[in-house]
Amino acid sequence: MPELPDGEQAPPDGSLPDPGVHGGFAAYVHIPFCAVRCGYCDFNTYTNLRMGPGASVDDFPGSLAGEIALSRRVLRGEGRLLDTAFFGGGTPTMLDPGQLGGVLAALDSAFGLRAGAEVTTEANPESVSRDSLLRLADAGFTRVSFGMQSAVGSVLAALDRRHTPGQVERAVAWARQAGLDVSVDLIYGAPGETMGQWRRSVDAALALEPDHVSAYALTVEPGTRMGAQAARGRIRLPDPDELADKYEAADEALTASGYRWYEISNWARPGRECRHNAVYWRSGNWWGYGPGAHSHVNGTRFWNVKHPLAYARRIGAGESPAAACETLTAAERRREDVMLGIRLREGIEVPQGAGPLVARFADDGLVDPGRAAGGRLVLTRKGRLLADSVTRDLWA
Ligand code: SF4
Repeated sequence: MPELPDGEQAPPDGSLPDPGVHGGFAAYVHIPFCAVRCGYCDFNTYTNLRMGPGASVDDFPGSLAGEIALSRRVLRGEGRLLDTAFFGGGTPTMLDPGQLGGVLAALDSAFGLRAGAEVTTEANPESVSRDSLLRLADAGFTRVSFGMQSAVGSVLAALDRRHTPGQVERAVAWARQAGLDVSVDLIYGAPGETMGQWRRSVDAALALEPDHVSAYALTVEPGTRMGAQAARGRIRLPDPDELADKYEAADEALTASGYRWYEISNWARPGRECRHNAVYWRSGNWWGYGPGAHSHVNGTRFWNVKHPLAYARRIGAGESPAAACETLTAAERRREDVMLGIRLREGIEVPQGAGPLVARFADDGLVDPGRAAGGRLVLTRKGRLLADSVTRDLWA
């Protein structure tokens, strides 16, 4: 698992230089449990469901409630403040719907969910039932994001996923019956995946008629099981050209079916974009609850201790679970705004003095020339594939 950044020491009481969230804020809740660890995954998640007091599946919601109470003491703002909440992991649905609903209720009573708030949980298709989805909807969840990954059995096996393609179909149907919006996540570039298999997965996702689709290239970190297999030459990871072809194939199919890209890896039916993710991409305010969760409030970032037991001990002692914090300078904020903003459909304002560079980007087919003439830097499909190098050139 990746280590947390260094940063400065965070105050034990969780206080912040500027704690005002008057325009509202978002809540992220990290549930650090999974049934098995997938070979490519380096997220902060654990298959040990009994780690100890405050960190076991049964009493982990109590630790989250402690952090919610602390955040209520720290943040300043009147009225109903919560625009979106997102439960991620890990596998949030390793917790019972009653437990997830309890955490959501604690957030609501601390801050007030606004009318029409977007409340999402991630879920693995095999970890839900008709009843559990109904209970989540009753508890106030509005959206579920399923880790579909692929519609091909051998690809799912290569990714260590435990569900079958049929389980995704069933879970999506149940979610619809419960009145939940549906997103599906896909992964391309698994070892051995052919272009034909990838196209099948995209078509199968479209056949489910979800509101939203995310598609990510497989990234394999060195510390993972798959990373070790790749290092020993046991598996072949896809080259960048193959990943680019798969991205283009997905974008074509999704666009043809009425989904619009709104961030490099995300497509939605009009009006169904994930509002929670937009808070991250537009450098809004959010509090991340749970072990290893990151937060951002008015230019100050802080992140929690990573291990669930260390997290639970801090909460139990009445202390902030923040491991460290950093306050961004104005220049760092601008840089971050560009890095994130360039990934969005609306792009960014052409930075001052970047005219000649932007003209070169347009000649290379990386940005929309019409939008550039109007002062916006908006990536083309080719540009989206090379977004990192566009950002690097802007800073060079
Ligand atoms: S289900 Fe998701 S979070 Fe859990 S191990 Fe697999 S990839 Fe990681």
